Amino acid sequence: MLSCKDTSALVSRSMDEALSWRQRLAVRLHLLMCGACRRFVGQMSLLRRAARRYPGIANRPDRDSR
Ligand SMILES: [Zn+2]
Repeated sequence: MLSCKDTSALVSRSMDEALSWRQRLAVRLHLLMCGACRRFVGQMSLLRRAARRYPGIANRPDRDSR
């Protein structure tokens, strides 16, 4: 069973790289039982969508590569 800390770390990693099926399963299981992490994931994907839509407001690592 993952802790909330592990779950949020895995979720933010999953935004940048693919997780193994084991990790995805563990995250899913945790989310089933934990409302706080469900909210976190919701906010995370919202932010992610917003950042994609308005690239200027996000702190992109490649912003100096012009
Ligand atoms: Zn949690």
